[in-house]
Amino acid sequence: MRAKEFTDEQLQFIVEEKQTGTTWHQIVKKFKDKFKVDKSYNAIRNIFRREEDKARPDFVANTKRTSKVLILDIETLPLEAYVWGLFDQNVALNQIKQDWTVLSWAAKWLGDSPKKVMYMDVRGQKDIRDDKKILAGMWKLLDEADCVITQNGIKFDAKKLNARFIQQGFMAPSSYKHIDVLRVTKKHFGFTSHKLEHMTDILCTKYKKLKHNEFSGFSLWSECMKGNLKAFKSMEKYNQYDVLSLEELYLKVAPWGVGAVNLSLINGTPDACNACGSTDGKNKAGFHYTQVGKYQKYKCKLCGHETRDGVNLLEDTKFIKRNTR
Ligand SMILES: [Zn+2]
Repeated sequence: MRAKEFTDEQLQFIVEEKQTGTTWHQIVKKFKDKFKVDKSYNAIRNIFRREEDKARPDFVANTKRTSKVLILDIETLPLEAYVWGLFDQNVALNQIKQDWTVLSWAAKWLGDSPKKVMYMDVRGQKDIRDDKKILAGMWKLLDEADCVITQNGIKFDAKKLNARFIQQGFMAPSSYKHIDVLRVTKKHFGFTSHKLEHMTDILCTKYKKLKHNEFSGFSLWSECMKGNLKAFKSMEKYNQYDVLSLEELYLKVAPWGVGAVNLSLINGTPDACNACGSTDGKNKAGFHYTQVGKYQKYKCKLCGHETRDGVNLLEDTKFIKRNTR
């Protein structure tokens, strides 16, 4: 192990000590006593700062935007309630001990390098139920975005975020178009399941939704709630893969039509593809006919999405005269 590297256990120790308000000098001393390794004061403090970056809004502010289309995914912490049993429980509002909060989010500008996935979570905070800092990061991105791409985000992510924004005193972010890939796939395809896991398993080759191997099922969330740093790192990877696989899935299904959203307009690149944003150009692909019109059709060279020209090729010809007489 190199001098600068720390084990998960050592990192966990530093974060927990910091959370309980121990000073840096005390932490360094305790660290050396406990692990019997020589790490410098600066190394210990820097490794903590690197973890802390994940919960800092300016981390997001410093990333450069390359598109106006944002792919995002959030994870929430569950609400906690007093219940009398396991089955068929009817939980009244006054039985709620702790309402749900946002645990983490991952986001990426469409077309940006996979290395540029942005991410924040509540690790290392004294109160992991305090999501104000990570909401501030998400709010900034949403305020900049003109369009967002999500999986089930119209019903879930956007509404959950809005609920936390208004509760935490944020203004509404600038409005944005919303492409919900779940709705797109349900509209066009009769798959057995339209969940991200199934869809990315079938259609994606580069990124598939990750399965929870290390922390199975609910344990990933319950370990995060305990402040387990390893669980947070697992959540980070899982959350980032959701965004990367969603981007790949979006680009697979977008050519089939994503509704009234035009990415070339949104990104300010008039010759680009409406669906995938590619600037590789289009091929002519037959004609579209109406009762009195004939229009050139094109297909995107990259994704195959079809568009058509607005110019009627039959204007002022004998066809149009006959039909309108
Ligand atoms: Zn395209």
